[in-house]
Amino acid sequence: MEQNLFVYNTLTRKKEQFKPLSPPHVGMYVCGPTVYSDAHMGNSRTYISFDLIFRYLTHIGYKVRYVRNITDAGHLEGDADEGEDKIAKKAKLAQLEPMEIVQKYTVGFHEVMELLNILPPSIEPTATGHVIEQIELVKEILKSGYAYEVDGSVYFDVEKYNSAHDYGILNGRNLEDLLNNTRNLGGQQEKHGKLDFALWIKAKPEHLMKWPSPWSVGFPGWHLECSAMSNKYLGGQFDIHGGGIDLVPTHHTNEIAQNIASCGKMPANYWLHTNMLTVNGQKMSKSLGNSFLPHELFSGNNSILNKAYSPMTVRFFMLQAHYRSTLDFGNEAMEASEKGFKRLMNAFDLLDGLKASNSTDVEIKPLLNRCYDAMNDDFNSPVLIAELFEASRIINSVYDGKLKIDEDNLQLLKQLMKSFVLDVLGLKDEQAAGDDLPQLLNFIVNLRNEAKSNQDYATSDKIRDGLQKIGFQLKDTKEGTNWTKI
Ligand code: AMP
Ligand code: ZN
Repeated sequence: MEQNLFVYNTLTRKKEQFKPLSPPHVGMYVCGPTVYSDAHMGNSRTYISFDLIFRYLTHIGYKVRYVRNITDAGHLEGDADEGEDKIAKKAKLAQLEPMEIVQKYTVGFHEVMELLNILPPSIEPTATGHVIEQIELVKEILKSGYAYEVDGSVYFDVEKYNSAHDYGILNGRNLEDLLNNTRNLGGQQEKHGKLDFALWIKAKPEHLMKWPSPWSVGFPGWHLECSAMSNKYLGGQFDIHGGGIDLVPTHHTNEIAQNIASCGKMPANYWLHTNMLTVNGQKMSKSLGNSFLPHELFSGNNSILNKAYSPMTVRFFMLQAHYRSTLDFGNEAMEASEKGFKRLMNAFDLLDGLKASNSTDVEIKPLLNRCYDAMNDDFNSPVLIAELFEASRIINSVYDGKLKIDEDNLQLLKQLMKSFVLDVLGLKDEQAAGDDLPQLLNFIVNLRNEAKSNQDYATSDKIRDGLQKIGFQLKDTKEGTNWTKI
């Protein structure tokens, strides 16, 4: 925590020193996935970026409460307040309960997050689990006078709000500008103003996901859940709010308006936004039809891919770009990342076998400082990776006997690689599990033989039978004990 961390704040449009409200605690809210279909690679980029941020904050000593929601109430089509709930639409087509759709894609999302070594958040609340809180929030906004009811639906009055507050504060746009550049969206006949958005929507009879409320049987508007859940789990004011940059003009702008209207406070001090993963320069998105899924990348099963790429290659590829830069997907860039990742992990694997000398040709402290400097400069992972390649070069030279390193510097080098490669970047050796298996089995077999020679037959039999159950057979010979896979 002695680190001098600077983060780029979308709200102020500059890099600022990070000062949490009550250190060592940090509250961070990130908008999570909508679970009506599989999260695509672009979505995963955003979650990898916030995983890096979560990991680094934890690494430097903060106790982070990371909240990432699941949107399971279904956004309507586009940004409009009318149209069909996407979850319900899919449920009808597949003749399933909407919650079966939600369950299927939530499980799939978690699987992908685990493969990409993205740590689970501290709390993962769902929109449908917080309808009561959302209704309470609508009541508060109505009380403040910044919302109005029309025939069972409730809308936020943007122009009225803007007369007392700055509606376009997050992207630095004024209301006139926004009014001139907005299309007429759905529900227009009920709304007083073109920018007004729904807080509560009266459900049509055929609508599947609906709840009773003081205004109608209906469902919450899609910006409401994040205001309600961040407030519930992090309080009215917390440290970091994040998401993809595409959420700035509408979702996050409206979230801020809802929070200020209901409790007079800007919810988060630092607004962090990740840039988009693009394909041939175009944002990857489901609606543009240029998106592909993480599993397609891992299996190579998509016509735009030359081959399959492992989850850690994909993670490394993402981290080689700064989270605020766009990143264009391409086979050549992926192949370069695959090579780079292997080079880094090969060096990592040599670390344990390095021998210290009495003197040293290298000092590791300045390199370690540069790794921290990179991450303290708004989580600059590409610069960090360049420093880790320098560390790899040193490891290879020591291994080849071209460079001497003393014990203190060797320990520091090990600490640097472990901290930044494993803990901060969240990379792992994908071969390790398989390669370590024989070692692990030999270790267990030795434990069993030790028990046997101590005449602790209960334990030795328990180990033998346990291994048998998971598919390994032990055979005692004159030379020792062998194991075979059944
Ligand atoms: P969604 O499930 O569409 O609500 O999106 C989930 C998250 O992914 C949001 O934070 C979006 O901003 C982000 N996102 C969507 N498309 C991309 C993309 N192409 N690159 C990076 N992040 C994205
Ligand atoms: Zn949100």
